Amino acid sequence: MTDNSFNDEQQRYLRGVTAGLHLARGVPGMTGLTGGKRLRPDDFHAQARIRAEAAGGELCGQEKAKADLNPNDMWDEMAGLAARGEYPKGDMVFLMKSNGLFYVAPNQDSYMCRLRMPGGIFSAHQFRGVADLAEQFGGGYTHVTTRANLQIREIGAAHSLDVLMGLQDIGILNRGAGGDNIRNITGSPLAGIDPQELIDVTPYCRAMHHHILNHRELNGLPRKFNIAFDGAGRISALEGTNDVGFAAVLPKGDGPLPRRPYFRLLLGGITGHQDFARDTGVMLKPEECVAVAHAVLRVFLSSGDRTDRDKARLKYVLDRWGFEKFMREVQKQLPFTLRRYPLARCETRAPVEKSGHVGIHDQAQRGKRYVGVVVPVGRLTVAQMHLLADLADRYGDARLRTTVWQNLLLGDIAKADVDSVVKAIVGAGLHVEASPARAGMVACTGSFGCKFANAETKGNAMTLVEHLEKTLELDEPMNIHVTGCPNSCAQHYIGDIGLLGCKVDDPDAADPEEADQVDGFHVFVGGGYEDEQGIARELAASVAASRLPVYIEQLMGAYMDRRHKGERFVA
Ligand code: SF4
Repeated sequence: MTDNSFNDEQQRYLRGVTAGLHLARGVPGMTGLTGGKRLRPDDFHAQARIRAEAAGGELCGQEKAKADLNPNDMWDEMAGLAARGEYPKGDMVFLMKSNGLFYVAPNQDSYMCRLRMPGGIFSAHQFRGVADLAEQFGGGYTHVTTRANLQIREIGAAHSLDVLMGLQDIGILNRGAGGDNIRNITGSPLAGIDPQELIDVTPYCRAMHHHILNHRELNGLPRKFNIAFDGAGRISALEGTNDVGFAAVLPKGDGPLPRRPYFRLLLGGITGHQDFARDTGVMLKPEECVAVAHAVLRVFLSSGDRTDRDKARLKYVLDRWGFEKFMREVQKQLPFTLRRYPLARCETRAPVEKSGHVGIHDQAQRGKRYVGVVVPVGRLTVAQMHLLADLADRYGDARLRTTVWQNLLLGDIAKADVDSVVKAIVGAGLHVEASPARAGMVACTGSFGCKFANAETKGNAMTLVEHLEKTLELDEPMNIHVTGCPNSCAQHYIGDIGLLGCKVDDPDAADPEEADQVDGFHVFVGGGYEDEQGIARELAASVAASRLPVYIEQLMGAYMDRRHKGERFVA
């Protein structure tokens, strides 16, 4: 699709869009493969109310709020608030999250806007547009999130709809980015350029994304819901931490299935509750995934707990029913039979490259490289975003790939251009090389902008990185996940080191009896993902933030001194 009225940048963007549409046409989930009568969101609320009453319970406050005002239909209310320059109160704060707008008082008296972009792959045009919105209506920066997404922060009361309209103008539809909805669809960030991947997950992420946006019955879930597609490439999509994970596999060829890529269906991941998604025994053709996700969601919609927020995630339905019963219900929603296939008859996933998201690497296409840009704790200024978008346009494929490690990748760079790209990145105050601690550091928003936080996270994370860089020569990749509260947005249970914010008595107080409460962290060790999957164990409770760098230095130093040959920190 070309049109001489478009400039080069617009034509490149349109080529990407139409390529995606062409692929999506082959996905049956997009053409009505999901079975059964379509339900309205109100039907689920009615069912939930009846079930809750029959069990002698009561719908929780959030469910009542959703029943009173469907978040899809609250544009006028949001417009009224913006016109009056007011922030929401009461239930409106919760309901607006479904439109991607988070009023984050008291930590910041402003909105944070969370986007959604399937697979985390933005066009340069969109990336530039987000930067412009952050400059015009926000704080002049964005955060890359642990779901390979972007957040614009410090949006004033009058500008909430300016941001939403601006996003829609550049093709970013963020309905359902928060609240009880399916969050941004994550995928392997190297999709399509990974020399190791089994499947380019891009069309499936996009198909899932648009499927959700165009099925109102998939709004208003009992609780938030995460879906990820992993193509078995060098960089994981962390699909095991999602409610639904699609993990690419190859049959060994010793059974009835042909040796072509399939997806395993994993269910129930929620690492904040110390559970990874588990294999269901189901093997899917790629084009079946959207329909199966829809069926899983329908079962969750009608069976999830709407009385107790702490037990409302999919994991608790699975705990209550068991996987077999749950999958029988899923099967009833589908017009085709689910394919059971032993995991043992599939090849083991190729190992991930833990530092594959930073630095310069070969990609699948001969002569091309991808560049992993280090973005310390995910913060990007508007000027940096413009520079990166310009580099993607001039030297790459006009795309920017955000990752769950809170950084981003530029792909399709010719070997001869790598030096120019690196020079420009460094000139903008960013880097492509990093120490193991810096490369593997992720941190949630923390008390800087989240009311749930027990501690400041990003600043403490950077203090820790700088201390470790000065005092230790770490010689292996090291993931450090800093999370401000048990909601675990930074997934402390899967870090080599996980830090969970808390309040502690000030250890420097003159009188311990009169000590103030200051930031501290519980320290967890030994978590991992993919071939090193494991839930971290608590090693120390309530370490004051001021003492944390020396504590971690001593911990890592002891490990490096005493480890056996070939021993890994996760062992
Ligand atoms: Fe906020 Fe807690 Fe999530 Fe951090 S983990 S962003 S403190 S809710």
